[in-house]
Amino acid sequence: MAQQIRVELRPDVERLTAQDARPGLGVVLVGDHPASAVYVSSKTAACDELGIHHETRRLSPRATTEDVVAVVDDYNRRGDIHGILVQLPLPPQVDAVRVLDAVDPAKDVDGFHPDNVGRLVQKRPRFVPCTPAGIMELLQRHDIEVAGKRAVVIGRSDIVGKPMALLLLHRHATVTICHSRTRDLAALARQADILVAAVGQPALVTPAFVKPGATVIDIGVNRVTDPLVIDQLLEEGHPKLAVFREKGSVLVGDVHPAVSAVAGALTPVPGGVGPLTIAMLMRNTLATARARAGASGT
Ligand code: NDP
Repeated sequence: MAQQIRVELRPDVERLTAQDARPGLGVVLVGDHPASAVYVSSKTAACDELGIHHETRRLSPRATTEDVVAVVDDYNRRGDIHGILVQLPLPPQVDAVRVLDAVDPAKDVDGFHPDNVGRLVQKRPRFVPCTPAGIMELLQRHDIEVAGKRAVVIGRSDIVGKPMALLLLHRHATVTICHSRTRDLAALARQADILVAAVGQPALVTPAFVKPGATVIDIGVNRVTDPLVIDQLLEEGHPKLAVFREKGSVLVGDVHPAVSAVAGALTPVPGGVGPLTIAMLMRNTLATARARAGASGT
């Protein structure tokens, strides 16, 4: 599906490039967080595949808030950069709120700026955060009905859980948001026709959380290195066991593999929500380039 979306976007990228308005993404990567480097290279590889210009400014792990804001300001001013991506997490000495607030809302392809958050709340979105946007696209393209359904979102972060809940609400689901203080989580989750897990805890969602036939969306990406945890999660013969034995670690979602026997549909980790997130980033970047080209009469 992510590949299909990229195919759909390509003609517009080619048209804008031919009009001397090639879409451009400016990335800021601070520190040496290994997962962040992997995420950034997946995003820039998608740009390469589509023909979107990209550049990445790498800052040291000791960078200050001012250092990061200065890069953002530079991208804000540049006519050839249409989208700005600040890869999270930022090191603790950097004030992430100040950095994200510094991004020009018209270039905020991640949809984290308060202007864009407010617009989303009011159901007049400009940029929708990429992970929840990808999930809505997934539901739509799989003809999974949302209106009138019970949806439960586990996780209330600003970048995943909250926007996810809003998007489901705007599509007329009855939405419950759960978090670390929620009581009787499994019983609440079991009411869901659509269950979204955005927690960051390997295999938290067991079959006891899932109504038979429910659609389960697994956003969590957790790298597990402990063989004891793996033994509890994966039965002999599971394809991920071979990966673990070869590499000494394996990616596991927030949803226990045994849920596949109960759910009506379940997204895989890896290879599920992640690639769709990147496809939505490409779509958002293209949208800003298109808007700018339209505004300048290109
Ligand atoms: P955060 O850590 O910001 O938020 C996690 C949320 O889960 C919080 O709201 C927290 O509650 C809640 N939570 C934690 N433990 C429990 C528990 N035991 N029971 C119920 N709720 C709990 O994470 P993010 O939202 O940024 O990311 C969530 C996961 O999604 C991570 O694994 C991340 O790697 C992954 N992710 C994947 C993406 C993709 O493209 N596939 C993109 C973005 C994220 P509280 O608020 O009370 O602390």
